[in-house]
Amino acid sequence: MSHSLPFCPNRDCAFHHAPPGDGWFRPYGVYRTKAYGTVKRYACRLCGKSFSRRTFRLSYYLHLHVSFRDILYGLASCSGLRAMARRYGVTDKVISNRIGRLARQAIGTTAGLRPTQRSTEALAADGFESFVLSQYCPVDIHHLIGADSQYVHACDLAHFRRKGRTTDYQKRKRERLEKTFGGVSGEIFASFERICRAIDDLPRPSGTIDLHTDEKREYRAVLAANGFLDGKVRRHTTSSRKARTSWNPLWPVNYYDRELRKDQASMVRETTRWSQETNNCMERTYAYAAHHNLYKPFRIRQRDDRTHAEMAGFDVRKIEFLKRRFFRERYFYTKVSFNASEWLVWLRAYHTPFSAGWRELPKYVTGEERRRPSRLAA
Ligand SMILES: [Zn+2]
Repeated sequence: MSHSLPFCPNRDCAFHHAPPGDGWFRPYGVYRTKAYGTVKRYACRLCGKSFSRRTFRLSYYLHLHVSFRDILYGLASCSGLRAMARRYGVTDKVISNRIGRLARQAIGTTAGLRPTQRSTEALAADGFESFVLSQYCPVDIHHLIGADSQYVHACDLAHFRRKGRTTDYQKRKRERLEKTFGGVSGEIFASFERICRAIDDLPRPSGTIDLHTDEKREYRAVLAANGFLDGKVRRHTTSSRKARTSWNPLWPVNYYDRELRKDQASMVRETTRWSQETNNCMERTYAYAAHHNLYKPFRIRQRDDRTHAEMAGFDVRKIEFLKRRFFRERYFYTKVSFNASEWLVWLRAYHTPFSAGWRELPKYVTGEERRRPSRLAA
């Protein structure tokens, strides 16, 4: 039985980090649920913490059955939250909760695959412009992409000040918002620095990594300041005005931008659907990236069914193992080796400018227990 109960879910218990094989837990009664019938409970012999098989499931604490796979595929085929909610007869909060869980599966899978890559392909990094809440809150979502595989290695977000042509009224409104809530200066530097750290985390057998970016001065400044990439990264710049053909060295990011723009409802240009909150925006971005990396065929027209993860040189057996897990077993944050960007998304640590208020951290983020269900038998 212990093969399906891998460790004690209490992160302060020694059996959470190193369970001693069989016999570390004992039966601890049952409880009844409407959604799943009678569920057996167990207790850790070391710390006494009780749990069930469901504690390790992606559907932990959920009472409504909505297919995670359907939601991920809906998200990647331009379905909005409310459209999906109508389809499954649930509220948009239910869909948002499921996407939050899928985003953490995406992070756990990306982090789990990371050490297994054996590739020397070049990388391309660029920002994808969109907005959250309103046009006064534009964002640059940085992606780090494999040049040949178009595998998404990292995503990060920076807010920046609204630019372009503005009317006097719009200028006054922007100033009023900045006066009340504060500005967003310097976020492009910080976000690109996290992308640089993600590059540093990639296992590269030897040699220098070729990195293609546009000519943005913030990128140059961050690379100059980051001594840890000296000798590891060779940067090549391409003007962002250059034709966006497949000959352009920035084609991998241009290609991914186009996919994101057409596949995700909140990213479509001149859309009537956009993100209201930065963390929700990033959860959708990560879930979409997982769909792109693990489930989308590399080239549909050429009938090349390999995934972008396979093309990027990750271990195929590991990819299959993690894909089997993707819709079933949840990740515990204590077991994931995050990079800085992934931490921010996991902990919902991004702010949303010009928006007041605090939102409670969902329980599945840290896996904290809610009220204990009543025990029917000892
Ligand atoms: Zn324990």
